[in-house]
Amino acid sequence: MALAHNLGFPRIGRDRELKKALEAHWQGELDEAGLRAVGRELRAAHWQLQKDAGIELLPVGDFAWYDQVLTHSLMFGVIPERFRRHGAQPTLDTLFGMARGVSRNKSSQNSCCGGVHAQELTKWFDSNYHYLVPEFSADQQFSLSWEQLFEEVEEGLALGHALKPALIGPLTYLWLGKCKGGEFDRLELLERLVPVYGEILQRLAGLGIDWVQIDEPILALDLPQTWKNAFERTYNLLQREPCRKLIATYFAGLEDNLGLAAGLPVDGLHIDLVRAPEQFPAILDRLPAYKVLSLGVVDGRNIWRSDLDQALGLLREAHERLGARLWLAPSCSLLHVPVDLRREDRLDAELKSWLAFAVQKCAEVAVLARALREPQDPEVRAALLASRAARGSRASSSRIHKPAVQERLAAIRPEHSRRPSPFAERSVRQRARLRLPLFPTTTIGSFPQTPAIRLARQAFRAGKLSVAAYTEAMHSEIRHAVTLQEQLGLDVLVHGEAERNDMVEYFAEQLDGYAFTRFGWVQSYGSRCVKPALIYGDLSRPRPMTVDWIRYAQGCTDKPMKGMLTGPVTMLMWSFARDDIPREQQARQLALAIRDEVVDLEAAGIRVIQIDEAAFREGLPLRKAGWQHYLDWATEAFRLCASGVRDETQIHTHMCYSEFNDVIESIAAMDADVITIETSRSDMQLLEAFERFDYPNEIGPGVYDIHSPRVPDRAEMVRLMKKAARRVPAERLWVNPDCGLKTRGWAETEAALVNMVAAARQLRAELA
Ligand code: GLN
Ligand code: ZN
Repeated sequence: MALAHNLGFPRIGRDRELKKALEAHWQGELDEAGLRAVGRELRAAHWQLQKDAGIELLPVGDFAWYDQVLTHSLMFGVIPERFRRHGAQPTLDTLFGMARGVSRNKSSQNSCCGGVHAQELTKWFDSNYHYLVPEFSADQQFSLSWEQLFEEVEEGLALGHALKPALIGPLTYLWLGKCKGGEFDRLELLERLVPVYGEILQRLAGLGIDWVQIDEPILALDLPQTWKNAFERTYNLLQREPCRKLIATYFAGLEDNLGLAAGLPVDGLHIDLVRAPEQFPAILDRLPAYKVLSLGVVDGRNIWRSDLDQALGLLREAHERLGARLWLAPSCSLLHVPVDLRREDRLDAELKSWLAFAVQKCAEVAVLARALREPQDPEVRAALLASRAARGSRASSSRIHKPAVQERLAAIRPEHSRRPSPFAERSVRQRARLRLPLFPTTTIGSFPQTPAIRLARQAFRAGKLSVAAYTEAMHSEIRHAVTLQEQLGLDVLVHGEAERNDMVEYFAEQLDGYAFTRFGWVQSYGSRCVKPALIYGDLSRPRPMTVDWIRYAQGCTDKPMKGMLTGPVTMLMWSFARDDIPREQQARQLALAIRDEVVDLEAAGIRVIQIDEAAFREGLPLRKAGWQHYLDWATEAFRLCASGVRDETQIHTHMCYSEFNDVIESIAAMDADVITIETSRSDMQLLEAFERFDYPNEIGPGVYDIHSPRVPDRAEMVRLMKKAARRVPAERLWVNPDCGLKTRGWAETEAALVNMVAAARQLRAELA
């Protein structure tokens, strides 16, 4: 009989209990025993929720105090020297130190002076979850150093649960890490690491564990041959160790690794059929006759209710061929979705009927397994009917399908994505109109979000502050920002974004087709959670979103005021997107909505408009073969939203990273007049991309790191800009920080900008 299992459950808790407990602990308000008790309660509650939903084999090891990769680093003893105390076993303090850094007074985030900096944080594959990058030294040793997994197994067994520990596999773990101190290939560490897995498997077997899930998501990436070879070696060794092993892959198809994955000497394989349904028939043919095949048919990355009929169609065939060797699960760990839809008390019933969060997804998996066994079971039939009804109403709802939006999409012509003239001509007109000095200075948009600003926004939302009073509070912030920028001598000003809570949510709230949950939190990293807006229908902009604020700001100064918008790709990437139409269509709808705003800003006399695309690069598919298609539609969406204006209106874009080497052509194809980017942390590394590609338009390589309170001095910024000027002609360079300033305080912001303007003046004097 097909078994219903789960690869992982969100750990933060329905009401973000883990976040709250962690933060209380870090503040010294909750002791370690109290924190551990919260963890225990959450695990117990989550197992029960999954079991009640019908999951037969429950994951353990999916709980983490901060991050599951970090837990593995502790388990393997991969603890960088700076966090080690001699002779002592690691403690929870060690773990939090690795995650957050240790400052000298031990109470705050990582600091530079006297403290120890945290491990690097980076994106988990193509998700918005961030993990802590393991740091390997050339002489790295591995030893079993952390008991958490075994303790949690005992805890779950004592509660009477059937458990399947989830481990990150040795190849994926090494792949995710970085070598520190000297160049060496981390794959060389494999031989030392594998024995620790042997030990873990023996310990688990000793506790009575039968199946272990070993996550090797890198099997869905383009792998170098050496890594492919290492898979066979590794699992040949692990084959001798106890426990039955299920290799879990997700986020993309196995493609060229399919034969490799199917043939590994383990007892089962999980594949993601949501992201890569096409691998289904092939895998049936390649799978050895003794192996379990776990099919991920319920989307673990999105919040939509499954189409159970469609899933069943596929599963019936698999079931006929595999019988009891067929297992069912969500496509990946449910870490990426909110906990429980039942908690949403303010969503209307129809919208709610379209959605499924982690608990509901478990129930979907369970009902599919049951449907294979007992198709006539009344509960199965009811679930199928409900799924069908949701699909039917989504297919026809007038809340979703908007003829006006579709007509506009159909009417898009190539010229809509092209500025009237090429950059060379536009720039002449823009120069004549804006009359900016060489090395013009600007900032990225936001200014410090003070408690007063947040309080005003909250009071307004809660209905405790009138529209007039709120407007005046924001106007006063704008006046303050403008006056200061004029005093500082900046050239292109910003209004400061005081009215915005978040660069996506602010716009999403004003677009038709977006909905918002109250409790739809997902973990981003550690205790940080995000609540993505969800796109449920065709998108449009009923009325201007920013024009009044920007017009007001422009009225306070004669200098050019930048209009500030979030671009279509970023809006899409940081939302839960629709699954009933392709992403590129949603990007185009967003582009048209934002295009209207761009045009309205121009009509209101705004001469410079910035369209942020912070998430442009992170949309890249995991497999290189998918890159070009993505880059084509993403670039096109940006151009569509930016091209409704006249030549003399200057379009800026901003991106928060500098790993441009492999996408620089597409960045250029966006054809923004000016791009501002992160470069200060990488010491202008970005400019490497320019060695082989001549970036044609204007560019502001960020001269100081806004992520730190440190105030950079003028000489340092001058040095960075001179470095840039060796690659890009001075007339095309801008001087700006590397991102928005909303997380900074005013004092350090002012001090840094004084130095930045002084640096620009020095550059003008020296390089003009
Ligand atoms: N305009 C935004 C700001 O300054 C850009 C933020 C970002 O790129 N993440 O806050
Ligand atoms: Zn940024």
